[in-house]
Amino acid sequence: MTSPVLLRFAPSPTGPLHLGGLRTALVNHIHARKLGGKWLLRIEDTDAARAVPGSVEGIREGLAWAGLDYDYGPGKAGPHGPYFQSQRLDLYHFYAKKLLDTGHAYRCFCTADELQSTRERLARSGLNQTYDKKCLNLTEEEVARRVKAGEKSIVRLNDSMPPRRTSPPDLIFGHLRDAHASLPTDPVLLKSDLFPTYHLASVVDDHEMGITHVLRGEEWLPSVPLHLDLYASFNFEPPQFAHLPILLNPDGSKMSKRKGDVRVVDFIERGWEPQAVVNWLALAGWGVHDHSHSHSHSSEASSSNSDSDSSSASSSKQTAAPDSTTVMSLPEIIQHFDLSAVTHRRSVLDPTKLEYLNKHHLMRDFSSEEGLQAFAERMQPDIKAAYPDSDSTSIPYLKKVILALQGRLMTAPDLLTTAPYFFQPPSYTSPESQALVTAIPSHEIYLQALQPTLERLRAIPSQEWEAYDVASVLHEENKKTGLKSKVYMTVMRHALSGMKSGPSVPEIMKVLGQEKTLARLEDAASRVGEWYPEES
Ligand code: GLU
Repeated sequence: MTSPVLLRFAPSPTGPLHLGGLRTALVNHIHARKLGGKWLLRIEDTDAARAVPGSVEGIREGLAWAGLDYDYGPGKAGPHGPYFQSQRLDLYHFYAKKLLDTGHAYRCFCTADELQSTRERLARSGLNQTYDKKCLNLTEEEVARRVKAGEKSIVRLNDSMPPRRTSPPDLIFGHLRDAHASLPTDPVLLKSDLFPTYHLASVVDDHEMGITHVLRGEEWLPSVPLHLDLYASFNFEPPQFAHLPILLNPDGSKMSKRKGDVRVVDFIERGWEPQAVVNWLALAGWGVHDHSHSHSHSSEASSSNSDSDSSSASSSKQTAAPDSTTVMSLPEIIQHFDLSAVTHRRSVLDPTKLEYLNKHHLMRDFSSEEGLQAFAERMQPDIKAAYPDSDSTSIPYLKKVILALQGRLMTAPDLLTTAPYFFQPPSYTSPESQALVTAIPSHEIYLQALQPTLERLRAIPSQEWEAYDVASVLHEENKKTGLKSKVYMTVMRHALSGMKSGPSVPEIMKVLGQEKTLARLEDAASRVGEWYPEES
């Protein structure tokens, strides 16, 4: 019987959740759901020195914001708990002892200073070793005596023990070159403080928890040979591995804090839509479908020194993956996702794509009555806070504003700043407003455009305003003035908004309503003299 699909996201609580971590969690979520399986959140907190308080909360908040609901983990009890490695120490001791008993591991009593000078000596003599295995051949009696005497020790893997075997291909990177040579000599499994190293804890937990697929960042690829040695030493069946390529900035540099936002909390604070960020991350590296690495090929004989460049499988069947800016919700992503279509090549995470996706996710939301209502309700408190004196913050009004501005809103907070004239009278003193006035030749022309239109609009019965063809009125009145439509419309736009761009003038009028439209035009008519002081 095959075991049920179970994946894990296993962050170390060493600081805020970064985009790279969110992307790893996301792909775990997608792949688990795709396979009809589950995933858990495991906190790898065995390195107390690197722990940062609040990290776990930050990770959980980031996952919840993105809509990535793990099935088991902190706050969600399950059969594999506890989900904090610091609460599983007995388990690591049990397994370390197993390896000691079978000779797959041994105790090392060398002090930190001794180890340091050994490492230097080996390096000087040009040997590709980091430890001289001095403690490997201590007799059982001696080990027992030194342990009894309270001497501190660590547990090391005896790396000459595990049977060398062919490695299963990585689901993304394909067959990998044997990287044993780059591993430390007899890697440490248990530290002298009795905490496990990442490697021991990770392998023990993945096995104990029944993880079927280990999906994590490319930076862990070099650890795979050691993990496979551990699986072999325990006689455990290894899970399937899939490593996600490193994400790059558009200039090709590695994503890092110094180059702008990488913390998920920054994206939350800037008001990006979670589904847009999820869409953006999912599409990074989602290349073309490449059947050469699909599960069905895992039985292929692997040669341990084959080239790691899986792209060389050019003859394999390929089907199109989505375009790098396809707007998809998480359920749609899950439906279309295919891990074998993820490239092993480093992928650029381009912020301009996020802008595009965010805007289009918003527009998608606005296209349904429900989505529009929800967005208006979500934004109302912020609008009220930003415009405390405004009498234009009702939900029905906000919905009209949102529809008029859609396509101009890149992020939700843009609603607060893109068109302030929908919430308060226009500012005629802003530099933008003043610059607009200079595009209108004179005070007289301003009034020539404004006044007859004002009369026409005033004559529209108020109950007809909503459905009235205001655009035609403006067109006709413009014609009568003989002014260029650019000048005429600039007058109208200036009087209504004080800004140089925005929705069309009739649209602005419709949103504002008749009363406010007339009030603004009247106000402008009475103040126009102030804007052309040199004429008076
Ligand atoms: N704790 C590791 C990290 O923080 C997880 C590595 C793994 O997924 O095996 O990235």
